[in-house]
Amino acid sequence: MTKDDKSKSALKVKGGVEQPNQINSEAFGRFKKSRKKLLSADEYVKGILQGNRTILSMAITLTESSLPIHQDLAQEIIRACLPHAEKSIRIGITGVPGVGKSTFIESFGTFLTQKEGRKIAILAIDPSSERSRGSILGDKTRMEALANNPAAFIRPSPSGGTLGGVARKTRETIILCEAAGFDTIIIETVGVGQSETAVHSMVDFFLLLMLAGAGDELQGIKRGIMEMADLIAINKADGNNLDKSRIAVTEYKNALHLFPLPPSKWSPNVLTCSATENKGIAEIWEQIEEYSKITLENGYFNQRRNEQSKYWMNETIQDMLKRQFLENESISKLKKEYEQKVMMNEISSFQAAHILMDKYLEEVKK
Ligand code: GDP
Repeated sequence: MTKDDKSKSALKVKGGVEQPNQINSEAFGRFKKSRKKLLSADEYVKGILQGNRTILSMAITLTESSLPIHQDLAQEIIRACLPHAEKSIRIGITGVPGVGKSTFIESFGTFLTQKEGRKIAILAIDPSSERSRGSILGDKTRMEALANNPAAFIRPSPSGGTLGGVARKTRETIILCEAAGFDTIIIETVGVGQSETAVHSMVDFFLLLMLAGAGDELQGIKRGIMEMADLIAINKADGNNLDKSRIAVTEYKNALHLFPLPPSKWSPNVLTCSATENKGIAEIWEQIEEYSKITLENGYFNQRRNEQSKYWMNETIQDMLKRQFLENESISKLKKEYEQKVMMNEISSFQAAHILMDKYLEEVKK
């Protein structure tokens, strides 16, 4: 990595450039005065529907908060925003660090806003934020042109909590952004872990960025992730890399042929692009439009969204049950005791789990 790359890689989160407050400056003034106070659910909803990005950001912060009062308010806002959402295309983008995700999103996003008149929201799911409590994805320093673009809204990955929790917050953020008039949602994630599955379960289209000349193993991309892709784009197809990129296209096309036709009836294509030279970007968008057209016609687009809603309901239930169980004080004490017993081989793991569960159910009945 050159010095230049380092300053671009945004391992440090800088403040970024403030977005211009476009609409509803009056409401913003009122909001600034009562900064500490919460707005009413109606005020949030009104602000969001008017496209006020300051109020949108505030509402997103509420969804990310673990305070019950914030959560209740957030749920009320989301419920009111739901009928206004879903008129968008949700695109997931993944690839190993260094493949060029942020450079690509910068180029792709600029193309979409300038040439296609789209309004884009860029969100991220960053598993590393679970550990470091700081996000490396989606921060504004990496996408300076978009950060200054009034038709773009960038929100870094929520931090803390389980991947499921982070993913739920992102899914709620999608709804809020759509209600605020963003018709193209881009969700970025690092292609190294389970976060792809989470992103895949909330997007309409999944784009995998790859590099030429590095085997799949080298790129740490698992077969499962390739199977999820609706399109593979070989990035950095420029300069000396052009020939290698063309070869990679053939190789990946051959690899994709081995997979069965997905339920979308869409056979994923392989293209090349150069994010730095803005090449192949329009072609990628064409593929996404084509995909939407085909899957809207054959019903898969809506079916997938419905399946995703069901999936997230179940995920949220699991999350809530687990949290309630673990946050129960007497259970948490007992759990420590049983962990000892399990480690001393006094009792089997399954027996211990059953006993704890029974105790929990007794507690709940009280
Ligand atoms: P990320 O970690 O996947 O977000 O990757 P970045 O967007 O930060 O890019 C990593 C490095 O690759 C940076 O130095 C970029 O300038 C460079 N890069 C990104 N896209 C291209 C491209 O299309 N061509 C070339 N030659 N370099 C690129």
